[in-house]
Amino acid sequence: MNIILATQNKGKVEEFNRIFADYSVELSSIFDYGITLEPEETGNTFSENAQIKLEYYLEAIQNNKAYDSSQKNLLLAEDSGIEIKALNGEPGVLSARYGGEGLNSTDRNNLILEKMKDVVPENRKARFVCCIKIVDIEENIKYEFIGYSEGLIMDNIYGSRGFGYDPIFKPLGYNVSMGSLEPQVKDKISHRGLASKKLIKKILDER
Ligand code: IMP
Repeated sequence: MNIILATQNKGKVEEFNRIFADYSVELSSIFDYGITLEPEETGNTFSENAQIKLEYYLEAIQNNKAYDSSQKNLLLAEDSGIEIKALNGEPGVLSARYGGEGLNSTDRNNLILEKMKDVVPENRKARFVCCIKIVDIEENIKYEFIGYSEGLIMDNIYGSRGFGYDPIFKPLGYNVSMGSLEPQVKDKISHRGLASKKLIKKILDER
């Protein structure tokens, strides 16, 4: 079985590779098919955006010369982001573009820290959300799995692991940022790790 990761985000590709490492499944990504275009994420929810990516990359893969339909192929699309209570759920589905296209992750983290500078610790609740949509390409069977990781927005940037908002997010039950955790620890508690766990239970363990 081959799972094709429909994402341009190298941080996500790295995490999925770790998460599926213990299972007898091959992983590839749209990079392996030379696909570099991305759909516009016009959805209002993580689920809608994951669906947009799934449909877009499904068409691209099926029309790709390198696509090998003789083996079982699943296409995995994922939309994720962070919802911050004090910012009325922002950045939410805009997480990758929050503050404008020209910003990098550190700029976005600083933007959030600045907006939250007067917010007291008890009002700094946030959560990561991950919606995975996966389709069995030949059988056209689709599944959706959602994972959440609850925590707080910290007062500064801490740690250099992970990606995106990891350095300003303190997961519930931990005293350090997500960006300071060992990768395998992040995978156990992260929104992506938890959504993937549901996928593994449904699709890989049932084989
Ligand atoms: P998208 O799903 O490609 O639209 O982008 C999701 C964005 O949410 C990423 O670019 C990150 O900024 C943020 N994000 C999603 N998952 C994580 C994570 O595990 N850690 C930190 N930031 C994340």
